[in-house]
Amino acid sequence: MLGVMGRSERDRPSRRMCAGCGSRTERDDLVRLVVGPSAPFVAVDLGRRLGGRGVSVHPKKACIRSAALRGGLARALRGVAQVEPESIERMVVQQFERRALGLLSSAQRARSLAVGADAVRSALKANKGDLLIRAKDSRGRGDELARAATALGCATATWGTKASVGDAFGRSELGVILVTDRGIARAVLDCLSHIEALSEDE
Ligand SMILES: [Zn+2]
Repeated sequence: MLGVMGRSERDRPSRRMCAGCGSRTERDDLVRLVVGPSAPFVAVDLGRRLGGRGVSVHPKKACIRSAALRGGLARALRGVAQVEPESIERMVVQQFERRALGLLSSAQRARSLAVGADAVRSALKANKGDLLIRAKDSRGRGDELARAATALGCATATWGTKASVGDAFGRSELGVILVTDRGIARAVLDCLSHIEALSEDE
């Protein structure tokens, strides 16, 4: 009679258990950590492309900490290594930053990115804009453009510094960029919100 047993919630292949808090959730809400036999022992596999033994965890400080200290990650590493939760948090942040940069460069190739205050202002004037990203240390024109973007219903987020955002686009400094593609904007915002949550002091 096995055939009549319905597939339970547990069997849905898109669901995984968080190795930290233990709750079952959609796979896409979790980050896969690959556990290897040698240093650095843990790698972050955002795209779920790496082979090997892995555990999944919410990209949250509390879940990463409990996974590393006593949960599924600690068990997977038993006898091999101890990994500091902070180093996993840093690795996860780096991977989300890399993904965000990849998304922004694909937006740029698709001409769906305005770079710098002048380009952002003209795009907003043309009623274009799905996500405005400002460097945390941008002032003045950054504030003004953020207000204009909000008035248009465009999401806003902060990321990095003028120097670090500039570095990503081959400039010495960059205070503001604007994504004008809704799908890319949503995916970038997702990365930035995880980065922010993992970078906050508790
Ligand atoms: Zn969790």
